[in-house]
Amino acid sequence: METHQETILIVEDNLPNRKLIEAVLRPRGYHLLLATNGIEAIEMASQEKPDLILMDLQLPMMSGYETTRRLKKDSNTSCIPVVALTAHVMTEDRQQAIDSGCAGFIAKPINTRVFPSDIRQYFQNNPHPEYIADPGKHAL
Ligand code: MN
Repeated sequence: METHQETILIVEDNLPNRKLIEAVLRPRGYHLLLATNGIEAIEMASQEKPDLILMDLQLPMMSGYETTRRLKKDSNTSCIPVVALTAHVMTEDRQQAIDSGCAGFIAKPINTRVFPSDIRQYFQNNPHPEYIADPGKHAL
């Protein structure tokens, strides 16, 4: 198995989801940081400067959208790509995530078979294929 050195901040309040993501990524060598709400995520992101943030959009207190907006407004964290984790497949939800500053989406429940390669694409600065496949939706 290929191993990676990058740091990934996982922002997810649902324990089973978080455990699953950890179980898939940890054996690949990533350094994982965990946050369960937006405030914690913003603190960790500015202190630890992860290479990538996986952002659940449905979080307690502050939504993943708002958390992402704040990360993008702060010059300390604005360069870190944020990938939305969402069960919502509606175009409006996805548009809202893009408008908030997310680089793309990964659908939940995650497909453990393709999840690692989906993630790699964001490190290589290539947007998610889904994002490319529907460019008209992101032209606004
Ligand atoms: Mn959630």
